[in-house]
Amino acid sequence: MNTPVKKEHAPINWPAAIMFTITTLVTVIAVPWYGISAGYSTAAWVAFLVLTILTELAITAGYHRLWSHNTYKAHWSLRLFYALFGAMALQNTVLDWCSGHRTHHRHVDDVDKDPYSAKRGLWFSHMGWMLRNYESSASITFDNVKNLQKDPIVMWQYKYYLPIALGLNIAIPAALGVIFNDFWGMILLAGFLRIVTAHHFTFFINSIVHKWGKQPYTDENTARDNALFAILTHGEGYHNFHHIFQNDYRNGVRWWQYDPTKWFIAVASWFGLATDLKRVSNFRIQRAKVQMQFKRAQEKLSQSSQTEKWAELLEKEYEQFTKMLSEWTELQAGKYQEARQNLLDKWENASVRTRYKELEYSLKMQQKRLQLMITEFAAA
Ligand SMILES: [Zn+2]
Ligand SMILES: [Zn+2]
Repeated sequence: MNTPVKKEHAPINWPAAIMFTITTLVTVIAVPWYGISAGYSTAAWVAFLVLTILTELAITAGYHRLWSHNTYKAHWSLRLFYALFGAMALQNTVLDWCSGHRTHHRHVDDVDKDPYSAKRGLWFSHMGWMLRNYESSASITFDNVKNLQKDPIVMWQYKYYLPIALGLNIAIPAALGVIFNDFWGMILLAGFLRIVTAHHFTFFINSIVHKWGKQPYTDENTARDNALFAILTHGEGYHNFHHIFQNDYRNGVRWWQYDPTKWFIAVASWFGLATDLKRVSNFRIQRAKVQMQFKRAQEKLSQSSQTEKWAELLEKEYEQFTKMLSEWTELQAGKYQEARQNLLDKWENASVRTRYKELEYSLKMQQKRLQLMITEFAAA
């Protein structure tokens, strides 16, 4: 178990503490008790599932990728959906959530400045940080969300957060309960159980996914790629990628990686509901990966017995890598210059594009060779 690296006797944050206590107690006591004594309708389970998906999506596609990171632009109808269902998720207002999250990215792992620093232990980064008014949360001012304060939907949600959040959490399950003739079943499953499950799924990203998983792109912070938690969080488990490329609307960047949030945004863009989807170039993604591999190879090599032979090979690879990087930088510089002058003739354009593709491919091949080398080191 982690022991907190920082001791602080902060005052209790009563509104959050009361909300978590009530929702948790009802979920662990009343939900199983009612299930055993009265039983739940199928409709209540379906409503639980659908509302979990919708409220989580409002958090991942809305609160997180749209409002915290501006990875795309969204039509007002989509923003309204995010604001309503995000409030229903009971994860605070857009402004509070995004301000805290931007601070988390900016000062990731810092025990004084990151509001949910993973370096303060699993419990703290999971929920502990919300139960008391810690000094690290005092840095959450709205200075870093000024752009969001211009969004009338964000401001409307901020102003009426409590009535919206309470209203939807009572009205929707109650209405469904009347329609499907399972009032208490709906209140307990589509209300309480849904709130608590979705809460913990989101919180796992700050706790477990900052502790367990792979670091293919960077080891400069504690964020990991964790496929299992991607399944529970609509794709947010690819958190190592996200922390290095936070402006990309994708978290699971490979086409096969389970990231329904990115698919949702892509589908929304087909209907014009989402525009300006931001993607990091493949080359930059590959570059980060290869850089990480060099670092790992170097570490492995220092423990290996056949140092000389491999050191030479590794050095050669590194030389090639820097050459590719500089050529890529040159291409980039050239591209912008020519685009500015608007003189890019067709032939030139095509040849530059081919070169980009070639570079991307060489980088991919290099990545494969390094992967092999690392396995060899491990065997030696
Ligand atoms: Zn983020
Ligand atoms: Zn994080």
